[in-house]
Amino acid sequence: MKLSLVVPCYNEAENVRLFTEKVREHLADLDYEIIFVNDGSKDDTIKELKNIKNEKKENITIINFSRNFGKEAGIYAGFQHAKGDYVTVIDADLQQPLEVAREMYDFLEGHEEYDAVAAYQDVRKEGRIITAFKDAFYKIINKLCDIELYANASDFRCMRRTVVEAILSMSEYHRFSKGIFAWVGFDTYYRPYEVQERNAGTSSWSFWSLLKYAMEGVISFSTKPLKVVISAGVFTSVMAILYMIVVIVQKLVFGIEIPGYPTIIVLILLIGGIQLTVMGIIGEYLAKVHIEVKGRPIYIAKEVLHSTREEG
Ligand code: UDP
Ligand code: MG
Repeated sequence: MKLSLVVPCYNEAENVRLFTEKVREHLADLDYEIIFVNDGSKDDTIKELKNIKNEKKENITIINFSRNFGKEAGIYAGFQHAKGDYVTVIDADLQQPLEVAREMYDFLEGHEEYDAVAAYQDVRKEGRIITAFKDAFYKIINKLCDIELYANASDFRCMRRTVVEAILSMSEYHRFSKGIFAWVGFDTYYRPYEVQERNAGTSSWSFWSLLKYAMEGVISFSTKPLKVVISAGVFTSVMAILYMIVVIVQKLVFGIEIPGYPTIIVLILLIGGIQLTVMGIIGEYLAKVHIEVKGRPIYIAKEVLHSTREEG
C-alpha cells in the first residue's frame, strides 16, 4: 500500500460520496486506501459510507465510533489502521483540495530529505475578528510552549510512516494535534494552499469551541502558566510587605491615622481574585492529570469494516 488517506467525518453524509469520487479522480494511478472514521455522526454518514464500501470500487476501511470523540481521536484511530507508506490527513468536506493532497504525496516521493508536508492557509477566508484571534493564538502559544507551531498550518498534511509511528507512540488522551505534529519533530515542508468553501453541511467550530481548543493547546504543551502564577504570587507578596512597611512608618514616625476601610476591601478582593485565578489554573492542570491517569481509551469503535477494490 502506497498511500492511506485518513478522513475524520462528523455529519458529512452529503460530502463523502463526492469526496470519494474526487479521490478516485486524482489518485487513480496509485495504490491507495481511504480510511473513513465516522465520529458519531448524527446524520446518515455511516449509511453512505457503507454504501460506498459495498460498491467495492476502492480499498476502504470504516472505523465507526460508538459516539463523538472528536477529530483528534479520529485521526489517531485512522493512523492505527493505516497501512500505507505515506499517510495523509484530509477533511471530508472538500475544503482541502485533492489536487493539493496529490501534490503533497508527489513532493514527498521526490524529496527524501523531508518527512512530512503540511499545508497552511495562505489567504484566510474567515472573518477579521477570528483571524485576529488566531494570529494572537499563535503568538501566545509559541511564547508559552517549547514547541514551535507554524502559523495557520492545519492538520491537512502528508507524512511518512516513521512520522505516523512517532505520533502513535504519543498515546495521551488530550490530543492537541497541532502540538503533537510539532512535538514529534521531523523535517516538515510547509506549502501554502487555498482553502475551499465547504461542499455541504456546516463547520463544527464556534468561537467558544476555538477558544477552548486554544486553552487546551496551551495546557497540554506548556507548564508556563503555572510559573507565571508563581511570579504573580511573589509579586503580590512583595508589594504587600512594602505596603506594610509604609503603614508602620506612617503610624509610628508621623503618627498618621490610616483610614483603612476602602484599602482593606480593595486588597481583600484583589488577593481573593488572584488566589481564585491561581487555583483555577492549577485546577485545569489537575483535571488533565485526573483524566489522563484513568488511562481511558482515546476512542471506542463500534465496528471496523474493510473492503478491497475489485477490478473492472
Ligand atoms: N470532524 C470530526 N469530529 C468532530 C468535528 C469534526 O471528525 O467532532 C471532522 C469533520 O467531519 C471534517 C473535519 O473534521 O471532516 C473538519 O471539521 P470542520 O469542517 O467542521 O472544521 P473546519 O474545516 O471548519 O475547520
Ligand atoms: Mg471544514
